Amino acid sequence: MWHGQETGHSCSPTEEVTALRKDHAGRLDALVRRLGAERDGLLARYSALGIGGPAEVLVIARSRDELLAAVSAARELEMPFRVFGGLTNCLLPDAGLRGVVILNRARQARFEADTRLYVEAGAPLASLARQSVQRGWDGLTWAVNLPGTVGGALVNNAGAFGGEIAEVLASAEVLGPEGRVQEVGADWFHFGYRTSRLQEGGADWIVLAATFQLRPGDVEQLRAQAEEYAARRQRTQPAGRSLGSTFKNPPGDYAGRLIEAAGLKGARVGGIVVSTQHANFFINEGQGTATDYAALMRRVQEEVARQFGVRLEPEIEVVGE
Ligand SMILES: Cc1cc2nc3c(=O)[nH]c(=O)nc-3n(C[C@H](O)[C@H](O)[C@H](O)COP(=O)(O)OP(=O)(O)OC[C@H]3O[C@@H](n4cnc5c(N)ncnc54)[C@H](O)[C@@H]3O)c2cc1C
Repeated sequence: MWHGQETGHSCSPTEEVTALRKDHAGRLDALVRRLGAERDGLLARYSALGIGGPAEVLVIARSRDELLAAVSAARELEMPFRVFGGLTNCLLPDAGLRGVVILNRARQARFEADTRLYVEAGAPLASLARQSVQRGWDGLTWAVNLPGTVGGALVNNAGAFGGEIAEVLASAEVLGPEGRVQEVGADWFHFGYRTSRLQEGGADWIVLAATFQLRPGDVEQLRAQAEEYAARRQRTQPAGRSLGSTFKNPPGDYAGRLIEAAGLKGARVGGIVVSTQHANFFINEGQGTATDYAALMRRVQEEVARQFGVRLEPEIEVVGE
């Protein structure tokens, strides 16, 4: 969901619409000035896939204060806005996004007593996982090579190699639709397989920080485990620009296996191709567009449904749908 999305387009502007559009532009300029933001910042530069048109206003929030200031300015001026992390799970539209796009880079972290880790939501999860391993703290080793931020991982309940973020989350600080900061427990998120309440109708909430409860472990064992996970990723996952797994695994099966069995490895729409190494990864060969990616998704879904009667559900988020 797009916060405060404006709907309805008019082809021949009335005086009222022209005035509103002027107002929209005025509000954009005000935000750019107030936040030191970029006008029409190209999102492709920040997305793991290398796809995405311009954001009318693009804010890189480098601290919690900058994040809070950007959200409160957008709310005050009644501009649609959206917070993202590493853009490693989002297919962004070629036409770009209206309003304010905030990329969260607030990343302070504290390793506290009793193997508790407090971290701001813009911190890269993989780096925290590696630091935890070096300290002999167990619980995040599965994430040593997982792209993206802590915020994105909570929204998607990211996981790998049998672990998931829900298992180690003790509490989180969230900013509510009314602008109030609250401390919530893991139950609040309603975590499921790669889902949380923040995906469906809950996108009015912004994750500011998380506290993870880890466990004391053996440094050498954790290092060996981390190396094995990293090697497994390198062996099984393609290196090109992608969003990781496009579809969720259906119960009792693997999306990649089904796509491969349907004969779709190497299938292509425009500049997007189904990886020949891992069929659930779609690679942008350089000139791919969001339209290509979405068309390839539909083709794969239709073919897998036709051959195996299985409906593949997206794991990635198609933004703007
Ligand atoms: C090569 C590759 C491999 C991958 N492997 C895995 C894997 O093994 N397991 C797995 O689970 N995922 C995997 N992914 C997907 C991705 O890494 C995860 O989903 C990751 O947690 C997304 O984090 P992000 O910061 O990039 O989120 P984004 O893509 O930036 O955002 C995802 C969603 O979260 C929301 N969001 C982000 N930050 C906040 C915040 N602070 N407050 C509120 N909402 C927020 C956004 O609005 C958006 O809806 C992979 C991706 C790639 C590219």
